[in-house]
Amino acid sequence: MQITLKHTTAGLAIVASLLFFGCNAHKSDKKSTTTKAKVQQVATPVFNADSAYQYINNQVDFGPRVPNTKEHTACAQYLANELKRFGADVIVQEADVIAFDNSVLKAKNIIGQYNTNLKKRVLLCAHWDTRPFADHDRDPSKRDLAIDGANDGASGVGVLLEIARQINITQPNVGIDIIFFDAEDHGQPDHRNLPAIENDWCLGSQYWGKNPHVENYRASYGILLDMVGAPNASFYFEGYSMSFNPGLVNYIWDIASEIGYDYHFKKERGHTITDDHVYVTQLRNFPCIDIIQQVMEDRFDKNGDYINHSFGSYWHTHNDNMSNIDKGTLKAVGQTVLEVIYREN
Ligand SMILES: [Zn+2]
Repeated sequence: MQITLKHTTAGLAIVASLLFFGCNAHKSDKKSTTTKAKVQQVATPVFNADSAYQYINNQVDFGPRVPNTKEHTACAQYLANELKRFGADVIVQEADVIAFDNSVLKAKNIIGQYNTNLKKRVLLCAHWDTRPFADHDRDPSKRDLAIDGANDGASGVGVLLEIARQINITQPNVGIDIIFFDAEDHGQPDHRNLPAIENDWCLGSQYWGKNPHVENYRASYGILLDMVGAPNASFYFEGYSMSFNPGLVNYIWDIASEIGYDYHFKKERGHTITDDHVYVTQLRNFPCIDIIQQVMEDRFDKNGDYINHSFGSYWHTHNDNMSNIDKGTLKAVGQTVLEVIYREN
């Protein structure tokens, strides 16, 4: 993902319409809770951070999951099998997408559907591919090597696999679609000084947005998880998410606070980040918000050099490995998302 300082014009038009629609959509959901009192409230399951941690470790054990590699193919199989094991109807959407260097990536969006008979749906998503470069690593000789992506990629997927396991045990009163998007992190490398291009990130979600797995697919809202496992992570109000549906962002952050996780969920404005949620929202026309770690303070690395991005210092370096994963952070995010979906009626 990439920090974005400006919106596109087309994006702004859609943003304006969603701001209105999205807020009302969420409010009307709440209203229907009171009128349809007969729906049995389902108790929220307890999120198991040990399981999520293991699902992250299993992904990292494959090696970097870069499209067109055998590690990527093997991990795709693993993820589809896990979703099937947890009772989902699984679709693996295969797509040839074009990367920044005009190479063709054999991408796979892995989709798990629950309660397909229910019209009201919530989309939960994360990217599962890993960055083919370590363009922000301190060691220039290692910048062309793919990263483990324990947090950047595997953490969101690990949390969603644990949520899938819980859904299989206790169904919520809403249809859930889990999508692991591919080729999110294949954007142009920062260390090669190439000319700027547009839309080179989030290739899997761009493909799915134009070719959804269900015709005219629409959810009430979506939640994207990205970099949700680092120790002491802070999740701020991300800029696009706030422009898509500030009511939804506040609603989720309020739930996090209510169940004791305001240490991680900060009710303060963060940066605006191009990530899969932008394409989901713009192409499918429902609001998808991003839970993503950001660092808002100025920082310097061990050499005293200024860190010129707002992500953890491990971001797009070889330090994004299993030592960068903390069960407390996984628990905060996983329990919050479970709480959100089990409150739906
Ligand atoms: Zn990344």
